[in-house]
Amino acid sequence: MNLTVRILIGMISGLVVGTLLHVAMDPDSGIYRFLVENLFDAGGDLFIRSLKVMVVPLVLVSLVCGAASLGATGRVGPLGLKTIGLYLATTAIAVSLAITIALIVSPGEGAGAPVDVVFEAKEPPSIKDTLVNIFPTNPVEAMAEGKMLQIIVFALLLGVAISRAGESGERIRSAFESINDVLMALIRMLIQLAPYGVFFLMAKLFATVGFEEIGKLLAYFLTVAGTLVVHLGVTYTLLLVLVARINPLTYFKKMREPMLVAFSTASSGATLPVTLRTVERRVGVKNDVASFVVPLGATINMDGTAIMQGVATVFIAQFYGVDLDASQYLMVVVTATLASIGTAAVPGVGLVMLTMVLGQVGLPVEGIGLIIGVDRLLDMMRTAVNVTGDGTVATVIARSEGQFDEAVFADPEAGRVVD
Ligand code: ASP
Repeated sequence: MNLTVRILIGMISGLVVGTLLHVAMDPDSGIYRFLVENLFDAGGDLFIRSLKVMVVPLVLVSLVCGAASLGATGRVGPLGLKTIGLYLATTAIAVSLAITIALIVSPGEGAGAPVDVVFEAKEPPSIKDTLVNIFPTNPVEAMAEGKMLQIIVFALLLGVAISRAGESGERIRSAFESINDVLMALIRMLIQLAPYGVFFLMAKLFATVGFEEIGKLLAYFLTVAGTLVVHLGVTYTLLLVLVARINPLTYFKKMREPMLVAFSTASSGATLPVTLRTVERRVGVKNDVASFVVPLGATINMDGTAIMQGVATVFIAQFYGVDLDASQYLMVVVTATLASIGTAAVPGVGLVMLTMVLGQVGLPVEGIGLIIGVDRLLDMMRTAVNVTGDGTVATVIARSEGQFDEAVFADPEAGRVVD
């Protein structure tokens, strides 16, 4: 049976088992606690750890290889600028779409949202600090702490230096390439755990979190979910058809595994090994481009998160009866786009960055308490969109750089993990 089907089965059975436990069992009973707090929790955690353990070595090694072969061509600079530009553009489109749709739907008007939930705002990092912190002072510390942008900068510099170091560089490059192949084989091994991991994550989530809140916040929930679908179906599809000139259905089909893993883990960072493998081995983006564009995207490109922030701003403004003018909405687009760069690729961080967006236009930060109840499920959906966006931009850039392998894309079996 192919892996996607097995992941789907894991997901649906987790959902069913979790929901049954949620409605039928007393959360204080011994068996519930054994299942939910021990078995499911440990199983889900092990799966996320098995993904996360790959992230730092993979980004470092894969990007050193990519930069080493690009370094000699002098394409690193233009490629970097193009990638960052496209990431910012898709995010700005995502927020604008979210604001427009939310203004039409008006989810916050007459919303009977719960007002008793208190949201404690954390201080978001300033944009200056975010930018300065991209440059590492100590690469080992950056790796130990998983500081993704710092690792990317270091790996890029190392790769370019390798391409300029003659014979010694060549020896190091081939060593890195061998390690890269070994790491890819390791991901292939670990991804086989995904159906079980996804089962545990889903079972734990649905056993512990009730989704009664969705009923009260239905308009908000559906506006975010609908905009996510529109962004996938229109923005990404147009980019794939018009710019990359490939069949979007084949692309989305090939991206199912990272989308499902992103949905279950709600973390584009943890999903990164799966995204990178899929974009290279299944979609056909060559390592030179994928190794740079995908890890960078996991860190700075969060279209799904930006969509939530756009809709949430309109929702909170309407709930408090505040009228925002066009220039304030423009401010929201700019802040949410920049905030997505600073949004760490872990569950729930989008809400912290929302404080920055709300603060910019003078809306009460406590408004986040209104939407927090449904955020978990939306986090899962937007993370799936975040990783799909990374893959889409990687494909578009690869096409424009002549680094797209049509044969891999056309082959439904390419890079497929089958038992
Ligand atoms: N969970 C999201 C991600 O990792 C970030 C967020 O929206 O909170 O992509």
